[in-house]
Amino acid sequence: MPKYKDGKCPKCQVVVKNDDSSIGCELCEKWYHIKCQGISESELKFIAEHKELNLHWFCLTCDKNFKGVLQELCKLNSRVDIVETKFDDLDLRCNGLESKYDSLEGNYSGLATKCVDLGNKYRGVEKDLTTLSREVKEMTSDILAMKLQMQEPERFLTSCLK
Ligand SMILES: [Zn+2]
Ligand SMILES: [Zn+2]
Repeated sequence: MPKYKDGKCPKCQVVVKNDDSSIGCELCEKWYHIKCQGISESELKFIAEHKELNLHWFCLTCDKNFKGVLQELCKLNSRVDIVETKFDDLDLRCNGLESKYDSLEGNYSGLATKCVDLGNKYRGVEKDLTTLSREVKEMTSDILAMKLQMQEPERFLTSCLK
């Protein structure tokens, strides 16, 4: 509690005298009449008689301000918590995306290898087809030659019958 009483009670603007029942605010160090702060004589007596309890008193103005500051601090603190949670969440999602990107990259190189494989296989099949069509052509001409040979005896027989 502030040591000296000086000046007016901020509430009623009446000078606080030494023999007035008054109480000093520890924050703004102003003295108030106890009736101006809603404190009873017995409460003041209790505070005076129990210095060992180290009771602190703040005037209603300081208390209100302090409560306001405390509320703002609490709000700010919970907002910091929210931002921190969001940041953690973002961090997690970033990690998730990173591993997805890695696996996509892996899939992509797998696909690229498969494409090259398919291209090689296609070229092989194309080569096989060329060989096959050449063989088919050869076989066709063989068949034609055989047909011609088979027609020969027929022609011979016909000429004999004439
Ligand atoms: Zn007063
Ligand atoms: Zn005060």
